[in-house]
Amino acid sequence: MADPTRLRAHEMAALLRSGEISSRALTEAHLSAAERQNHALNAWLVIYRENALAQADAADKRIAEARRAGTAALNALHPLCGIPIALKDLVSVKGGQATAGSKILKGYIAPFDSTVAARLKDAGAVILGKTNMDEFAMGSSTEHSAYGPTANPWDLTRVPGGSSGGSAAAVASFHTPLAIGTDTGGSIRQPASMCGVVGIKPTYGRVSRYGIVAFASSLDQIGPFARDARDAATLLHAVAGRDDRDATSAPEPVPTELLGLATSDDEAAAYLKGKRIALPKEYFVEGMEPGVAARIREAVGAMEQAGARVEEVSLPHTDYGLATYYIIAPAEASSNLARFDGVRYGYNDRSSGEFIADYIKTRGAGFGPEVKRRIMLGTYALSAGYYDAYYLKAQKVRTLIKADFDAVWAAGFDAICAPTSPTVAFSLGARTEDPVAMYLSDACTLPINMAGLPGMSIPAGLSDGLPVGLQIIGAPWSELSMLRLARAYEGITARAPWRDLEPAELQLTDDPTTPSPIERKERQKSGASAPGAGGHS
Ligand code: GLN
Repeated sequence: MADPTRLRAHEMAALLRSGEISSRALTEAHLSAAERQNHALNAWLVIYRENALAQADAADKRIAEARRAGTAALNALHPLCGIPIALKDLVSVKGGQATAGSKILKGYIAPFDSTVAARLKDAGAVILGKTNMDEFAMGSSTEHSAYGPTANPWDLTRVPGGSSGGSAAAVASFHTPLAIGTDTGGSIRQPASMCGVVGIKPTYGRVSRYGIVAFASSLDQIGPFARDARDAATLLHAVAGRDDRDATSAPEPVPTELLGLATSDDEAAAYLKGKRIALPKEYFVEGMEPGVAARIREAVGAMEQAGARVEEVSLPHTDYGLATYYIIAPAEASSNLARFDGVRYGYNDRSSGEFIADYIKTRGAGFGPEVKRRIMLGTYALSAGYYDAYYLKAQKVRTLIKADFDAVWAAGFDAICAPTSPTVAFSLGARTEDPVAMYLSDACTLPINMAGLPGMSIPAGLSDGLPVGLQIIGAPWSELSMLRLARAYEGITARAPWRDLEPAELQLTDDPTTPSPIERKERQKSGASAPGAGGHS
């Protein structure tokens, strides 16, 4: 058989059922690719070879039993049974690490399963390992990880986006067909866009946050990465739904139709007929690369040709998204991160033997600079003298941002289409010295979190040889129609030449002399230029 890592999860599932491949063989193929190529990518913080193979064997046993019991039992198997998956390293899996990309959680071992991990285990999915991320999911490039940056397989001198950059890079590099990330302001959609994969930020409350290291609790959502809409829908279905252990998880039913997105491209494309798509003029922001704007306009044009009705709309409070997000998110973060006190979790410095002194030393050495910046911003915004001026004001503006979207849904639109990121993947180091430039990476994704809406990014071709993501935004709980639209776009572009392209520098990662992104960063610091890759600048 051809390399099984190139298959989609739904194709893997069919082969597992027909007995043409075992989960062990599938898992082994993915593990060896990840182990071989991780030096050059640093997408994985840990790979669980033994555990993964044991889970694969257990899945193979379940599948064999189902096969003996007959077609009904085989059909009743969970679609993820035996399928490899990666988890961002802030998802608790009992007995494993959950560093959240931070030094302060080094050595911490999760004593319980997050709801997401428990549901994936029940489904029979095979957890390959944990992926790299910006510290506490604060960032847009994965460069704020305490464990070094991740490289983008399309160009190893560039970032994969962030904060879920490890998950996005692992899916783009065929190390896994599926991965879990979190999105507080864009951290699933933006790296999906920059790595050329599919990523979904579900409606706030769709997926339980129990057992996920918290960043900003009113904005955080967990969601899937995959290489197509069908696989992303399957993974969303597996992890979504009410959980008594997360009071903000909604009782909203999870549509089973998520498992039945159109298989034929023509059938999928037919969904576009008569659909009303809104194009918000404020999302074609200043500083947007012309190549990105062109791909988005082409994508929307193609949908229009296939029968959709596209109209320009205005979301007038878009401009305030960034400013309000950077008050609300740090405020919530400063509160959530208070628990890292050197007593309960991971890293601690108890050298002075005096509690307050040790507390200060633990947090001083355990947190990185971006996390400290957020804690200071958030503590300031919540302090008695400034609460009304900043935090309360930001909450009011948040309501206005949501009202902009409500007006679009009230006008009868089915979805909003926009760019995911104003630029393609940028160079490692390009924005680390300028926090505001980094923050601007999420100008087109932040408002969706502020409004609690579902949004996703799907590949829409290349600009200068690098992936561009089309963002689709839906009304609350409209994940199914959002995914049908994404699937329809796949249908109308199924024969586009860029669909067959693999990340341009993936092959370089097979060469053990290709520098790791950590080595590149060191060389950058010392002023030498990094050899072995490049070519897009
Ligand atoms: N880049 C944004 C931030 O740094 C969003 C991150 C995220 O979605 N987790 O806060």
